[in-house]
Amino acid sequence: MSTIQIRDLRKVYGEGEAIVRALDGVDLDIDSGEYVAIMGASGSGKSTLMNILGCLDIPTAGTYELDGIDVSRLGERELSLVRRHRVGFVFQSFNLVARTSALANVELPLAYQGVKRHERRERALAALDAVGLADRVHHEPTQLSGGQQQRVAIARALVTHPSLILADEPTGALDSRSTHELLDLFERVHAGGRTVVLITHEDEVAQRARRVIRMRDGRIIDDRRAA
Ligand code: ADP
Ligand code: MG
Repeated sequence: MSTIQIRDLRKVYGEGEAIVRALDGVDLDIDSGEYVAIMGASGSGKSTLMNILGCLDIPTAGTYELDGIDVSRLGERELSLVRRHRVGFVFQSFNLVARTSALANVELPLAYQGVKRHERRERALAALDAVGLADRVHHEPTQLSGGQQQRVAIARALVTHPSLILADEPTGALDSRSTHELLDLFERVHAGGRTVVLITHEDEVAQRARRVIRMRDGRIIDDRRAA
C-alpha cells in the first residue's frame, strides 16, 4: 500500500523573467488508504503536483518518496516501472485509445506489464464488470457516454492493482448524474484500501474525500481532514 512523503518539493519552468515556480516548496504526507482532494485556482500547481506524484514528471528540487522509494532521483526507465506497477491514472478527458474496444483499452496496461493474453482478458473483463460495464466490453469510446468512458478509464486504472489512484478533474467533463456514479465508484475504490488523490474544482466532489488540501501559487495553504 502506498505512502507518500514529500519534502520541500519545487518545480520551476523557464528562466529569467519568464520563470514560473509551479511548485514552490511543498511538504506533504499521505498515508496508505487516504482519500484526498486537491483544490485551488487554475494555475496553482495542482496538475504539476499530480504529475510528480504519478511519476510522469520529476521535481526541480526536493524529495518525493513513494512506498519508501525515493523516486525524485530515478531515471526515465526506472520511473516508468514505478508508474506502471504502483499508479493508476484517471484524466478529465478519459484518454482512451480511439477506435479500440473498452476491453482492449483495459487490457493495455497489463500488456505493458507482460501479462499473458488469457489472464489479461480475464482481468480486464473482471475490472469492467466491477465498474458496471459488463455489457459494454466490445463498445468503442465513441459508442459510450462520457460517464461510461470514464468508468472504462477507472477499470483501466484499477486493473493493475496499483496502490495509488490519481485523478485530475475526473468529473470535469461529466453531467451531475454521471458525477454521482463516479463518486460512488471512487468511494468503493477507497473502501477497497487504495490511496485516492483527486484534483477538483467542485465542492461536491471534494466533500466526498476524507481530506481536502488547498493550493495557491505553488504552495499548500490549507490541509484539513473531515471530522
Ligand atoms: P493547475 O493544474 O493548478 O491549473 P498547473 O500545475 O497546470 O496548475 O500549472 C502551474 C503553473 O505552472 C502555471 O502557471 C502554468 O502555466 C505553469 N506550467 C505548467 N506546466 C508548464 C510547462 N510545461 N511549461 C511552462 N509552464 C508550465
Ligand atoms: Mg490542472
